Amino acid sequence: MSSVKLECISRKFVGTVTAQAQRFIGVDDISFEIPDGEFWVLVGPSGCGKSTLLRIIAGLETATSGNIYIGDRSVNQVPARQRDVAMVFQNYALYPHMTVAENLAFGMQMRGTDKSTIERRVIDVAKSLQIDMLLDRKPKQLSGGQQQRVALGRAIARSPQVFLLDEPLSNLDAGLRDSTRAELKQLHQQVGITTIYVTHDCTEAMTLADRIVVLDRGYIKQIGTPDEIYHHPVDRMVATFIGTPPMNIIPAIYQNGIWQIGDSQIACPSALVSQLQLRSGQGLDLGIRAEYLTICPNSTPDALVVTIRGIESLGRETLVKAQINGTSTIINFLATPEWIRQSGDSRQLLGTQLTIGLSLAWLFIFDPSTGRKLFPVL
Ligand code: ATP
Repeated sequence: MSSVKLECISRKFVGTVTAQAQRFIGVDDISFEIPDGEFWVLVGPSGCGKSTLLRIIAGLETATSGNIYIGDRSVNQVPARQRDVAMVFQNYALYPHMTVAENLAFGMQMRGTDKSTIERRVIDVAKSLQIDMLLDRKPKQLSGGQQQRVALGRAIARSPQVFLLDEPLSNLDAGLRDSTRAELKQLHQQVGITTIYVTHDCTEAMTLADRIVVLDRGYIKQIGTPDEIYHHPVDRMVATFIGTPPMNIIPAIYQNGIWQIGDSQIACPSALVSQLQLRSGQGLDLGIRAEYLTICPNSTPDALVVTIRGIESLGRETLVKAQINGTSTIINFLATPEWIRQSGDSRQLLGTQLTIGLSLAWLFIFDPSTGRKLFPVL
């Protein structure tokens, strides 16, 4: 086990940069330090540099500049197989002609581990991943979930200092992904190996991570615990990337003490007007999460008038999608099953008009053109 430290890591790829494309291809000036035993998750949209960063740490890709340390050792010049890291990919990469037991043993055999230790370790690892009944099978006789567990087992069996996992669950169907995710978390709690996990699935990031690194176009946007990232996003990109459903973004125009949002008007606290030095006619993006929008009695002042466009049951709660009247903006909010029942058949609710209160205590304000957070300031 070991800490992992990245100092100003950059990797620039030569590529065609068009007006629409990202201005930087690769990763740029990435620095962070993962304490020994922590589980960190790298997230971000496709092409933001997650896999490149993981491959640089593994030694499969060379950084253009910067330093990497595993524990106290600088590994810049250390080849991949001597870095003592184990990497698991989304496509499992098991040896098809070997049995599960042989796949689990392979890494240890390559390192010259003695036969009895290998046998003991294969059994221990297989039991911890509940694949001990599959040891004699070949990969093609296993389900996707079982294959992925063998791939994880092969990495664990080597007792590496660091685990690098690149979207290891993305080939599994939804149910299996949930259960394997829970097992992975439990496994990390048991073995406590420093883990870096790449995903573009924010639920995986939120449920697995000690800390999340949000990347965007090769840069670090934010590093924080799942709670910090969810409740204190640094900008609109992070706010809308983390959380399911994503944070609602409501375009508004400030006009003489009110926010005009389509047909709705909401009083803007005067403290905010002076703090943000709002000018009449100024556009703003108001951000608020679904759970902080509430259904109010009709004609409540300072509320949004919306029309229901969709209803999705989430089990304990129902997600309602509604269009803000006078705009094309769709917002999500949550309704209790009791509210849905009292309101009649959920299909009949489509097209119904509602009044939605928006609690200013949970409001974010972003610059519409840059996405920069204007409020809250911290
Ligand atoms: P995804 O979620 O789609 O897997 P990612 O966040 O893992 O994406 P990377 O695969 O790290 O992104 O790629 C980051 C950027 O670098 C992308 O623009 C990609 O096209 C570019 N890139 C990656 N590898 C190379 C390469 N070998 N040559 C040129 N460009 C590359």
